[in-house]
Amino acid sequence: MIMKYPWWNERQKKLADAAKKFADENIPRGEEIMWTKEFPSGILKKVADKGWFGAIIPEEYSGMGVGVTGNCIIAEELSRVCSALNVAYSVTMFGGVEQLLVFGSNEQKGKWLPKIAKGEVLGAVCVTEAGVGSDAAGVETTARHEGDEYVLNGKKRFISNTAVADIYCVYAKTSNRPEDRAKYNHLSAFIVEKGTPGFTVERINELGGWVGLPNGILDFNEVRVPAENRIAAEGDGWKVMMAGFNFERTLYSAGMLGPMREAIRYAVSYSQRRIQFNRRTIDFQHSQFKLADMFSALHTARLLTYHAAHRLDLKETAISEAAMAKLFASEAYEKLMSDAIQLMGGDGWTRFYPVECFMRDTKVNQIGAGTSEVMRMVIRRQELRAMAEDLRLPPRHIHEKLGIPISTTKPSSTSKVNADTLLEILVEDYRVNPGLHMSRDDIKERLKGIDDEQLDKLLTSLEEKGFVKLYKGRHGTIDLAKATYEGLRKAKPLDYYKWFPEWVEKEYLF
Ligand SMILES: Cc1cc2nc3c(=O)[nH]c(=O)nc-3n(C[C@H](O)[C@H](O)[C@H](O)COP(=O)(O)OP(=O)(O)OC[C@H]3O[C@@H](n4cnc5c(N)ncnc54)[C@H](O)[C@@H]3O)c2cc1C
Repeated sequence: MIMKYPWWNERQKKLADAAKKFADENIPRGEEIMWTKEFPSGILKKVADKGWFGAIIPEEYSGMGVGVTGNCIIAEELSRVCSALNVAYSVTMFGGVEQLLVFGSNEQKGKWLPKIAKGEVLGAVCVTEAGVGSDAAGVETTARHEGDEYVLNGKKRFISNTAVADIYCVYAKTSNRPEDRAKYNHLSAFIVEKGTPGFTVERINELGGWVGLPNGILDFNEVRVPAENRIAAEGDGWKVMMAGFNFERTLYSAGMLGPMREAIRYAVSYSQRRIQFNRRTIDFQHSQFKLADMFSALHTARLLTYHAAHRLDLKETAISEAAMAKLFASEAYEKLMSDAIQLMGGDGWTRFYPVECFMRDTKVNQIGAGTSEVMRMVIRRQELRAMAEDLRLPPRHIHEKLGIPISTTKPSSTSKVNADTLLEILVEDYRVNPGLHMSRDDIKERLKGIDDEQLDKLLTSLEEKGFVKLYKGRHGTIDLAKATYEGLRKAKPLDYYKWFPEWVEKEYLF
C-alpha cells in the first residue's frame, strides 16, 4: 500500500483508497488503449461520475474541495491506468481551472467551474505556437478588441486534448504598443469554446508516447470571443499563465508517479520469477541495488510533488517547489524506466509488458509544461532570491593565534573613509580570500558609512594608480574589486603575507 502522508486530511486519505481501487479495476482497459490508441472516453466518463474532475473546485461550484493534494492523488492513480487517461484529465485542470479559481470573476466561475467539476466539458491549455516554445511570453496569436468581443487570429501547436476538449484556455497578444509589450508582451487569457466559427483543428500529431491522447495544431481565423470570456484584466495574461504553471507542474509530476509505481511492480514481480544461473534474478545483489535506487527515486519524487501540492493548498508560493518536483520526477522517471526494463531483460523491451509504453513517455515528461532546462532556470532564479541571506560569503579574517583564514561573527570595520584604508581592506581580503574579488557589500561592511558615489570615486582613483583591479557589471557599474600585486606591495611588506604550517622544515624556505 502506497504511503498516505501524515499531513493529508481524512477525505484525502479516503480518496487515495478509492482512486487506487478505481485504477486497479481499470488497468486492463488502459493496457488495451496502449494497443488500440483509442481516446479513453469510457473511463473518463467513469471519472466524471465519481466527481473527480471537481477535485480542486470548491463545493459551492459543485466541486469536491480536496485541493491540489486531492487532485494529485487522483492523477497519480489515473496515471497507473494509462497516460492518455491521466493527461486528458490533468489537461482539463490546466485548461482553465486554476486560472479561473485565482483570476476568474464570480460570473465566470459560476458559468464554467460546475461544468468542469461534473466532467461535462473537457479542457485544453493553449500557449505553444510554431515559433513560441520555452519563451512563452513571445505569443504571436493576436486578440483584437472590438466592442464587446475579441477577435482572435493565429495558431497554437502541440495542444493536448485537441479536438476532444470543449473549452480552450488561449493566450493571445492584446497590444503592440512598445510600453505595453514590455509588460510580458501584453498577453491576455481567453476561454474559447469548441464550435466557435473560425476555430478549427489543423493537424493531429503522431507522437512517440502518450498513446491515445489527441495532440495537435489549432487554427484561429477571425474567431469572435465574447469579452466576458477574458480571464483577468487585459494584458494580465502572463500572471494568469504563471498561476496556471505552478499548479500544472505539480499535477504533471503526480502523473509520473503512477507509471513509476507500475514499473517497480513489474521489475520486482518479474525478477522474483525469472531464473538464470540457477537463481532468481532478484537474488543478484546488482538487481537489489537497482531496486533500492528505484524505491528512493519514487519516494523522493512523491515527497517533492506532495510538498509542492501542500504549499499550493496553503496558498503559499510554490514556484521553485513545483519546478523542482517536475525536474526531479521527470529525470528520475527516465532512469527508473530504463532500470525496470533492464531488470526484465528482453521481455521488458517488448510491448507485451506496459513498461515499454511508459518508457516512451520519458521525453515528453522532460519537455511538456516547461523543459528541464526551463525548470533549472526557474529554480536557480527563485532559490538565489529566496536563499540570498544564507548564500552570502561569511565574513572571514586571519585568526590571531593560528594565522589562518577563518570565518568570524565580528568582522573588523573602520569609519576612516579614505583611499589608504580602502586599500588596506582589499589587502586584508587578499590574505583571507586570495583568489577572490570583494563585492561592494563586502567593502561597505568594512568601511562604515561610505556611500556608493564615494566608493566609486576611491576605487577609480586606486585603479588609476594601478593598485586595484575592478570588475564592471553589464551596466558599467563597479561590482567587484581586488588589490593588484602592486597594491599589495604598496600596502604591506612581503613578510606581512607570509604563513607556513608548523611541520614545514624552515631550512627549505627562502
Ligand atoms: C506531447 C506534448 C504535449 C504538449 N501539450 C501542450 C499543451 O497542451 N499546451 C501547450 O501550450 N503546449 C503543449 N506542449 C508544448 C510544450 O510546452 C513545449 O514543447 C515546451 O514548452 C518546449 O517548447 P519547444 O518544444 O518549442 O522547445 P524549444 O523552446 O524550442 O526548446 C528547444 C530546446 O532548447 C532549450 N532551450 C530553450 N530556451 C532555453 C534557454 N533560455 N536556456 C537553455 N535552454 C533553452 C529547451 O530546453 C530545449 O531543450 C506540449 C508538447 C508536447 C511534446
